[in-house]
Amino acid sequence: MSDQYDIVIIGGGPGGYVAAIRAAQLGLKTACIDSTRNAEGKGSPGGTCLNVGCIPSKALLDSSERYESTRIGLSAHGIEVSEVTLRIDEMLARKDRIVNELTSGIGMLFKANGIDYINGHGTLHADHSISIAFEGDDKSKTIKAKHIILASGSEPTPLPPVPFDNEVVVDSTGALAFSEVPTRLGVIGAGVIGLELGSVWRRLGSEVTVLEALKDFLPAADKNVSRDALRQFKKQGLDIKLGAKVTSAEVKKGKCFVEYESGDEKQSVEFDRLIVAIGRRPFTDQLFDDDTGIKKDKRGFIQIDENNLTAMKNVYAVGDVVTGPMLAHKASEEGVAVAERIAGHKAHVDFNTVPWVIYTHPEIAWVGQTEQQLKESSTPIKTGMFSFAATGRAKAMNETGGFVKIIAHETTDQILGVHIVGPHASELIAEAVLAMEYRASSEDLARTIHAHPTLSEAVHEAALAVTKRAIHKAN
Ligand code: FAD
Ligand code: AMP
Repeated sequence: MSDQYDIVIIGGGPGGYVAAIRAAQLGLKTACIDSTRNAEGKGSPGGTCLNVGCIPSKALLDSSERYESTRIGLSAHGIEVSEVTLRIDEMLARKDRIVNELTSGIGMLFKANGIDYINGHGTLHADHSISIAFEGDDKSKTIKAKHIILASGSEPTPLPPVPFDNEVVVDSTGALAFSEVPTRLGVIGAGVIGLELGSVWRRLGSEVTVLEALKDFLPAADKNVSRDALRQFKKQGLDIKLGAKVTSAEVKKGKCFVEYESGDEKQSVEFDRLIVAIGRRPFTDQLFDDDTGIKKDKRGFIQIDENNLTAMKNVYAVGDVVTGPMLAHKASEEGVAVAERIAGHKAHVDFNTVPWVIYTHPEIAWVGQTEQQLKESSTPIKTGMFSFAATGRAKAMNETGGFVKIIAHETTDQILGVHIVGPHASELIAEAVLAMEYRASSEDLARTIHAHPTLSEAVHEAALAVTKRAIHKAN
């Protein structure tokens, strides 16, 4: 292992490891430093996403969905199941196996691409050297690089009046590993993470209450979508209390007593477990020295220019540690673009076409702008909506909740936003992203042949509905 690199990346999450692979593909001598270790003390690249984020949460969402649909969803198909047994230990072990396989896979990709993976904590100094500290080891190592990418990610935001004890009061990481199903589970925050984790444990049998400070549900989503999703979640039994600001919590004898304000009233509620999911904040502990000149904004995000350059020469930052959606695919695209810029290529990330997905049931996905945003900017628009209930495939699947909504510019017909709530929304949104990336009009989608019977026909019909010519509904 040499000590001089073309690129050193600090952080091996979807921002960092993807940047490392792209840099190596472009012939740059690359190292990736990542501090994460697994339960066996082995290096575990892949960051939050692979270790304690996207992947383990989706593993549990999938398992819990199968459990619930086996228990209560099969009778609609004429299938009677006499006994369904939940083996939570097996379910968690499956999730851990998936994480181990995927993180080992990143290790293999590093090797295959000739990338030096260093499992330690990196700190950048003003002379472009990086010192690396190794957990449980006094020795450190220093390496140098022409270019550096900071991809140190984020961590759960704590709520000071509700301190974690990592047993009763946990963050998202703790909520992926409850060894038994809590009887009464509280979730603070009705954001993406709170809704996904709340859904997992509700499906497995918890009585779940979500306390959300804001009066609006999912304010970033299109109003039609948030309204429909809220109705469906409530019907499933998720008790979502809006305008409920948690002010304190106390753990006594293994129970958590939570106080919250609802309007002018003070309320209290008791839980067996409490998940604090009020968002994530950038993680920059001992990432760089003050004399590097790298600046952070008020919320702690590293400040960058339009090319992801920080205030220090040849030092870039990508992913959750900079502003923008805290999403794995956004981090990866920034990582690729920065690696390409360093290699002398032109690269661009279109932030207007970053898809958002919430992997609840129903799934929620959108790309582009909402109707509210477009109205606020006085953009003239036309919209088309189509319900899954009117598609043959959704009926065959017994998954008829939700719809597709397409918003296009009134005169140019360019698609400005696509909003989906319903089955496989996470997959269906890809077509909308591609359409927007190609600056497609709703007419382009309307004239595209969609296979029958598929859920994607709802996208096709919503595009037809923009000009009031959907076939399977009265326009
Ligand atoms: P991270 O993935 O956080 O990786 C940063 C890495 O750098 C970490 O391994 C960290 O330990 C390491 N590190 C930090 N500082 C140093 C240092 N100084 N030296 C060495 N190493 C360092 N996003 C989605 O797009 N889809 C989802 O479905 C989704 N689900 C999620 C579910 C949960 C429960 C959570 C918590 C998050 C989820 N996210 C999801 C968000 C996603 O995980 C993040 O947006 C993504 O991981 C950000 O990637 P990143 O590379 O910027 O940082
Ligand atoms: P997100 O940032 O999407 O993960 O969502 C986190 C949610 O937590 C936001 O909708 C916040 O309004 C909510 N939140 C933050 N603080 C509190 C609090 N003290 N009580 C209840 N909800 C909160």
